[in-house]
Amino acid sequence: MAATIIDGKAIAQSIRQELKKDVAELKRNGVTPGLAVILVGEDPASQTYVRNKDKACAEVGIHSEIYRYPAHLSEAELLAKVEELNQDNNIHGILVQLPLPAHISEDKVIDAISPEKDVDGFHPVNVGKMAIGKEAFYSCTPFGIIKMLERENISLEGKHAVVIGRSNIVGKPAALLALKESATVTVCHSRTKDLSAFTRQADIVIAAVGKAKFLKAEDLKPGAVVIDVGMNRDENGKLCGDVDFESAKQVAGAITPVPGGVGPMTITMLLFNTVQSVKQKAAMANSK
Ligand code: NAP
Repeated sequence: MAATIIDGKAIAQSIRQELKKDVAELKRNGVTPGLAVILVGEDPASQTYVRNKDKACAEVGIHSEIYRYPAHLSEAELLAKVEELNQDNNIHGILVQLPLPAHISEDKVIDAISPEKDVDGFHPVNVGKMAIGKEAFYSCTPFGIIKMLERENISLEGKHAVVIGRSNIVGKPAALLALKESATVTVCHSRTKDLSAFTRQADIVIAAVGKAKFLKAEDLKPGAVVIDVGMNRDENGKLCGDVDFESAKQVAGAITPVPGGVGPMTITMLLFNTVQSVKQKAAMANSK
């Protein structure tokens, strides 16, 4: 039987509709959620991401401010801007678009963002909270995966989840969040021997490798849920994932397409985290 195709675009759209209502309610109470995005340099992919984030904010009514700087901006100037935004009461989320030019330390900049405004979920305080199973801002792509599974009524509890990739922004947080959902988790990476032996045991595979059509039908257990995080170009320059979608969908029970799977969820969770930041601030103010 052919796999269910998980429609990330539709799920993202329904979450955005809910967020739109939340934002309208917050505005009625006198608060407009605000997201500040900082872009340094002229990287075309980063420019596209920033434009898309701006558009998505407008769609749900979040106020967004974009700060564009030339690649020669100094680290000190960038840190000063981050600090200014940390203090700005109209800004609830701060995002510094990565990668940064080589002369600027990404770690230093991420550390400088207030954890309460770190809607990308990259600050060590948020990563640490996630690791010990506490509420925090979770990294948007893995958080989007968990939300997507939740909306599809696919439980992770007791399932064997195999994550391929151990990056700080996708693989590692995806593994931690799957563990939080009570999956039994295996993390594979470039040094893993006989990767296929692991993926063939998986009830859920999360592929975050960055290699076009890396995972094939023969690497999957029949009926497995396949989450494809990859964003690659195939031999014809067409956008494709880490999974060979055409063959895998014959074996999988459910599968995300690329495009239209994990991608739309990522920006949606950024909006979600920004709205969450406003709610948390209000809750803290009320508890004082
Ligand atoms: P990354 O930092 O390059 O990490 C890739 C991971 O894959 C590494 O942990 C690496 O292992 C592992 N790997 C590489 N070759 C492998 C192999 N032959 N066998 C097993 N593991 C292997 O990439 P990333 O930032 O996590 O992103 C992964 C993919 O997701 C990319 O295609 C990226 O464009 C995409 N992405 C999509 C979204 C979205 O919103 N849809 C968001 C972020 C990223 P080592 O650690 O051993 O090197």
